[in-house]
Formats: sequence, C-alpha cells, structure tokens
Amino acid sequence: MYLLIIITVIIITYLLLDKLAQTSKFQLLGQYFTKVNTQEYVVALTYDDGPNPPYTDQLIDLLNQFGVKATFFTIGQNIEAHTQTIQNLVANGHEIGNHSYSHQKLIWKTPAFIRSEISKTDELIRKLGVKQEILFRAPYGYKRFTLPYILNKMHKKNILWNLDPKDYHASNPEVIANYVISNVTPGAIILLHDGGGERGTTIAATEIIVRTLQAQGYKFQTVSQMLK
Ligand SMILES: [Zn+2]
Repeated sequence: MYLLIIITVIIITYLLLDKLAQTSKFQLLGQYFTKVNTQEYVVALTYDDGPNPPYTDQLIDLLNQFGVKATFFTIGQNIEAHTQTIQNLVANGHEIGNHSYSHQKLIWKTPAFIRSEISKTDELIRKLGVKQEILFRAPYGYKRFTLPYILNKMHKKNILWNLDPKDYHASNPEVIANYVISNVTPGAIILLHDGGGERGTTIAATEIIVRTLQAQGYKFQTVSQMLK
C-alpha cells in the first residue's frame, strides 16, 4: 500500500516537473531568460531558424533603414549552407545566437548528442569572427532536464521569449504586429522567425513593429546589450 502511494507521488511529481520544464517559466538548472527586468524602454527582436536567404538579407536591409540591431538564433546547418547571408548578418552588427546544429527537440537525446549540437554551432559562429559570449536558444523552447544540465556545465544562457506572436502561423502582418504592440513591456524578448520557409509576412510585420514602437520611444537592442 505505502509503496503504491510512493510510486504514485513519484510519477505525479515527475509529470508535473516535466510539464513545467517544457514551459518558458521554469528551468531546473542554469541561467535562462524570457525577458529582462528593466524600467527602460528597450526591447529585443529575435529571429530564429536562419540564416535563410533572401529573407534574412531583406530583413537586414529593413533593420538598417531603422538603425535597429537584432539577435538571430541561427541553426548550424543553415550557417554552413548560407555563408554569404551569415556574413552579411555579422558585417551589419547583429548578434548571432546558437539555435543548435540541426534543430531537433533536445529531449530524449543522449548528453553527447546534445553537447555536439551546441558545440558544433558555437564553432561555426566563432569561425565567423564572433568574439562575444554566444547565447543559446533551445529548439522549440523544449528543455526538460538533460539540456539545462549541459547548458549549465557549458556556462551557457538559454534565451527564451515572453512575446510569441506566432508569425509561423499568421498570414497577415498586422496580426503579428498588433499582438506585439499591444503586449509589449520594457525588457521584452520578441520571438520571430527569418527561417523555415517564406518569411515575407514576418518582414512586413517587423516594419510595422519597429515604426510603431520607435514612435512610442522604444529602443531596440540585441539580447546581450539588454542583459548588460
Ligand atoms: Zn527554432
């Protein structure tokens, strides 16, 4: 009888922890951020899953028009495939983050596999001449237990987000932009995507977001700048 209760408690605790570990609100070990605590009117635009020409390059042109620097969480395989575009990002002063090598969910994977997904991409980013700390973003935001343990050992910060306008579903840039504009707060980390297919909608949404928030007095910073 007691054994049954103990087993039930263990299973329920595990399931609860597992559920929590998948949300952006909780991580067992190591440093992670969904936003930055500040009173200043600063926000960070983050773009995942690239580099992805021609959309990443179009985004660079657009951000340049507004004098905005963003953070790009890039996939190692895409860095290898799109050398010119990643160099374009670096040359224009955007922050390059690590979004794993092959963008698999880093759960139920061996520690060696997870470690190689992180370090291979770090090496590719270092080869571009990036000297600063390389921030990490877990693919799909999934982390559970092994990934946080490894990130902690590697002294890597996991950068999640507090604003997800779901640009990967939306076909109307206004919908994406309005979500961001009506929910923004100082220190927000905004999740967008330059990779994963046709991204014209995200680019159009970016223009509305930047135009509107700059008019409200917001400054756009990279995640590293905002963390300082
Ligand atoms: Zn991703």
